[in-house]
Amino acid sequence: MYVAVPRQLTDFKNYMKTKMMVAKYSEKVANQRRDYLQKISAKLIRHYDVIKLEDLKTKGLMRNHNLARAIANQSWRELRLMLEYKATWYGKQVVAVSPYKTSQRCSLCGYDDGKHELDVREWTCPQCHAYHDRDINAAKNILAA
Ligand SMILES: [Zn+2]
Repeated sequence: MYVAVPRQLTDFKNYMKTKMMVAKYSEKVANQRRDYLQKISAKLIRHYDVIKLEDLKTKGLMRNHNLARAIANQSWRELRLMLEYKATWYGKQVVAVSPYKTSQRCSLCGYDDGKHELDVREWTCPQCHAYHDRDINAAKNILAA
């Protein structure tokens, strides 16, 4: 027979204390992140008239349950919202661009090199022999869209 050991009040207090500390810490991190995003968005809006972003909604995000990825996506959405409302304040433009093939298409000649795995950071276009950094090439495609 199992006899439940009565929980001590101090155990409970410690448990609650730990829980509170974790909650406070998470809130602090979230605030820092938001603060950071506010600064970035303000800076971007100040310096650029048109800002183009990858539209994450069209990507198969639900496949990835990775926590870091989830936070990154959450931040991206927050940043986008901040950019959008700040853009309306200052008469700037925020455009969401479909990320479809942005990292596999050559930004110079338009050649479609097929899907690149995420670890492929650099590649050379087989058609025009342009050498590409994955992210810079994708950014050029987004800008051109
Ligand atoms: Zn090319």
